[in-house]
Amino acid sequence: MTKILDGKIVAEKINADSAILVKKLTEKSVTPKLVIVIGTNNKSLLSYVKGLSKQAEKIGILAEIIEVSETSTNKYEEILNKLSSDPSVHGIILQTPLPDSVDAAALSALVPVDKDVDGINPASAGRLLANEKSFAPATAEAVITMLDYYNIGLSGKNVAVLGRSMIVGKPVASLLINRDATATICHSKTQNLSEITKKADILVVAIGRANLVNADYVSRGQVIVDVGINFNEDGKIVGDVDFNNVEAMTSAISPVPGGVGPVTAALLLKHTCEAALSTL
Ligand code: NAD
Repeated sequence: MTKILDGKIVAEKINADSAILVKKLTEKSVTPKLVIVIGTNNKSLLSYVKGLSKQAEKIGILAEIIEVSETSTNKYEEILNKLSSDPSVHGIILQTPLPDSVDAAALSALVPVDKDVDGINPASAGRLLANEKSFAPATAEAVITMLDYYNIGLSGKNVAVLGRSMIVGKPVASLLINRDATATICHSKTQNLSEITKKADILVVAIGRANLVNADYVSRGQVIVDVGINFNEDGKIVGDVDFNNVEAMTSAISPVPGGVGPVTAALLLKHTCEAALSTL
């Protein structure tokens, strides 16, 4: 029987834990605050960000969205510097994608590590690599959190990670190695991809291509975590994994939607509470 890795259940548990942290903070007269800086008027991204801030407020976290209409790096710098030095702000998300004219790499380094709740600062990435305390990118951590919640062991497991981005593929691999798994990062230039994926115990797929991973890439009994979020020709959200095609072959698989996504959002809020706690 295939186990469905339901992210909504995992997110509920994380949000309940965060609500306890908020209570602890309010007892000390601190209200955690998250600020999301967004530079796009992309409808689905704006609706995601609004959903996240509503979720934050439900738990008792203050949330502010700063929509930036100017497309200069300077404007973002000014905003980020102000947020960095504001003691009432505990978490900062610099939502990507940013406008092409903006130096996104330079801006990532302006999110202070202690408020970097989505782990985008290269210094946070370095700490993760060194297995030192830092906020990991929430999506990468969501993958591990899901596997932990469903008691899927990592030590000694072979994990194929498809995708090498700084927000998913690379940090997932670091987190896996820190947990004694053997991680192989695959990407668009990887040769004989299916040979690698078929040998793995666990597949983590984060490539951004609808339904690309089909039965040719999967072997019986594997665990699959699908990070992808794509829109198919009918405008429906689908993952990178052809769920209907491979589900029966797997021992466990995360759906899209309702898998990694809700866990990512919940972890961003939890990180904000943890950032606030560390100021006490
Ligand atoms: P990205 O575009 O930065 O990276 C995609 C990666 O996939 C690249 O490293 C590329 O080398 C690799 N790739 C492309 N084609 C490939 C192929 N045929 N075989 C193997 N590898 C290939 O994307 P990203 O930001 O890492 O996001 C990946 C997916 O995850 C997207 O669908 C995105 O929407 C989704 N995502 C989901 C969440 C969430 O919370 N669930 C968060 C972030 C991203």
